[in-house]
Amino acid sequence: MTHILSADIGGTTCKLGIFDESLNILEKWEISTNKTGEGILENIYDSFVVHLNRKNLDINSMIGMGIGVPGPIDFENGVVNGAVNLNWTGNIEVRKIMQKYFDGPIYVDNDANVATLGEKFKGAGQNESEVVCMTLGTGVGGGIVANNVLLHGHNGSGAEIGHFLVDQKKRFKCNCGMKGCLETVASATGVVNLVHHYYSNMSLKSSLHDHIMNKNVSAKDVFDAAKNDDEFSQFIIDKVAGYIAYAASVISVMTNPKYIIIGGGVSNAGDILIQYIEKHYKNMTFRPAQDDTHIVVAKLGNDAGIIGAAGLIKTYVIERENK
Ligand SMILES: [Zn+2]
Repeated sequence: MTHILSADIGGTTCKLGIFDESLNILEKWEISTNKTGEGILENIYDSFVVHLNRKNLDINSMIGMGIGVPGPIDFENGVVNGAVNLNWTGNIEVRKIMQKYFDGPIYVDNDANVATLGEKFKGAGQNESEVVCMTLGTGVGGGIVANNVLLHGHNGSGAEIGHFLVDQKKRFKCNCGMKGCLETVASATGVVNLVHHYYSNMSLKSSLHDHIMNKNVSAKDVFDAAKNDDEFSQFIIDKVAGYIAYAASVISVMTNPKYIIIGGGVSNAGDILIQYIEKHYKNMTFRPAQDDTHIVVAKLGNDAGIIGAAGLIKTYVIERENK
């Protein structure tokens, strides 16, 4: 038994991969997510069999299967409690359904957690045991690896960094129904929230004036303008960075990560974002908890999910057997 099967299920495509025990990719491919409910899982199984047959590999000789899903997870039982992007409602017993096809170990986790595990093993986390990842995209996902394992909490809501209250004024509403979450000020939508909030209340002029007035400014516009010395855009990135740093600071006194990894579309803001986060982080974090902690940009891009889903099998099957 030498190979790991990995699936990262998204709203439009499922990324699939076959890995060796050291999490090197032997093959990766995508299929479209064109069925709902259990049909997606059956499609995944069928595609695995086709690709394994080409390599003369038997699915029952696989070490295990790791699956990333965009929804809240009951990790112990491999159950997803709804996934809006997949049109899954109610509890879907992913592990139990997949066990109809594959009788080896199956681990299921949410997309932010598997991306974190991918970055820990093969990306910016340098295979350290203490790693935090914040994925700043349309929303904000988070994952915390402490003592080499992902934190899940008692009902799977651990490490939901996106819903950490960072804006004490609670100016913007979050998708979760609360106000003031990190997601409302540090996602792509959050960047735009801050642009509109501050532009009408301050005198800094911006090259984005027309976009802002027409309400079609994007986070990318802000990052591009900031790189061209647009002062208002730099001011906005500084605000975003302050909120991210605050979340990173609190996490640092909890789990003392070695690497705090910033991923997702917002991390395309690049060096300026990291520099501003570092500035705020150093000013607000308990000294011993920030010593030798590095704030870095994610390295794996879209592959973080399948590498991390395979990483579930490495963490919970291979490394446990070796202990
Ligand atoms: Zn929220």
